[in-house]
Amino acid sequence: MPSPQHPRGQAIADAAARVIPGGVNSSTRYIGAPYSFVEAAGAYVTDADGNRYLDYHAAFGAILLGHNHPAVNDAVRAALEGVDLVGLGVTEGEVALAERVVEILPSAESMIATMSGSEAVAQAVRLARAVTGRDLIVKFQGGFHGWSDAVARNVISPADRAYGRDPLSRGILPQALDSTLIAEFNDLDSVTALFEVHKDRIAAVIMEPIPHNVGALLPTTEFVTGLRELTRERGALLIFDEVITGLRHSLGGYQQVVGINPDLTTFGKGLANGFPSGGVAGPRDLMEHFNGQTGDVLLAGTFNGNAIACAAALATIDHLQANPDFYQRTHALGERMRTGLTELVTELDIEATTAGFGGIFVLYFAKPPILGYRDLLRNNDEAYVAFHRGMTERGFLMLPMSLKRNHISGAHTQEDVDRTLEAARDVLVALR
Ligand code: PLP
Repeated sequence: MPSPQHPRGQAIADAAARVIPGGVNSSTRYIGAPYSFVEAAGAYVTDADGNRYLDYHAAFGAILLGHNHPAVNDAVRAALEGVDLVGLGVTEGEVALAERVVEILPSAESMIATMSGSEAVAQAVRLARAVTGRDLIVKFQGGFHGWSDAVARNVISPADRAYGRDPLSRGILPQALDSTLIAEFNDLDSVTALFEVHKDRIAAVIMEPIPHNVGALLPTTEFVTGLRELTRERGALLIFDEVITGLRHSLGGYQQVVGINPDLTTFGKGLANGFPSGGVAGPRDLMEHFNGQTGDVLLAGTFNGNAIACAAALATIDHLQANPDFYQRTHALGERMRTGLTELVTELDIEATTAGFGGIFVLYFAKPPILGYRDLLRNNDEAYVAFHRGMTERGFLMLPMSLKRNHISGAHTQEDVDRTLEAARDVLVALR
């Protein structure tokens, strides 16, 4: 449908639809309105029609410090003056990045660089299978770990497909689907039961330590410590997919917050503040399987560890190390937002629960408690989408699909949060 508010965006979307399937390059970018962004700075983005938005979408969480962060962009500009890509040996930038990740991540002694979170997860899953000689993987209903066959399933599943067979795509072999088991987040018994049924066959349990792909389910201490013990006892690896939580919730990821070391950690998104990057980190004995001389797991990728990705990631980590108040600031703003939203829904008597951690906030349209995916089946998806749409129409860019989180970056201010709460009041009043 043509959009009167977005004539230029509409023209761009129409042109895109002629040459790009569905008009977007990642299916979740489709939002039913013709947005095309031409400018981004700090916490704000501007579309082709000159509309300015306060951005909580943050490229699905890839923007951590704020858009076009000067220190990151300067580092990338400097990298452009050096060697572009040779494809032999290793560069100092790759070494520096791995050293830095080993320094900040409690469970890491060694790291490989990838270009995205999906690639990092695919590598970690293959490594887990190779190391254990086992075939099965456990993931949680609601967790998203990218597009690879082993994990592309059971994210936001409707009630009739939750916990069952709910692939995100056709074209995944039935054997691949049979090789991934689905458990319930925050329910250790559901994982123990899988280990009982599939004795000595589970290679790894992969989890977002906070499943932000369905908002923010916070793991209970018993659940994460229990998972750590269970996987160790049963000879399976525990993989923390910190593609969203890594660097965002603390310099050492969510594993530092909960004080639990997984066997492997995957990175992506915020690692390079918007530049394509990712990686897998873990203890040396595991990671040595990627050693091309003595190991047995393929590590390949023309662009792995390229100069721009390394420069951007290093500058991001440098900035966070030099400005530890980033965490106090984003956490305080997140808290202010969550408290403000809770007050609003209480005052307006709306059936909703505020959730989140650090700079991430979510407003579920369901009564508490919300601990696992099962509770999210009670969410009023229509209200959720209407709330996000209403906010976007008022200039606050939020993820357009149900159960997704919002991100506060290093560039957001208290005034931004307060303005957001004022707009949220208008939208929620209209929704009642
Ligand atoms: N893991 C998590 C937790 C994610 O949220 C995502 C992307 O949304 C991925 C992996 C895949 O990362 P990428 O989109 O960089 O391939």
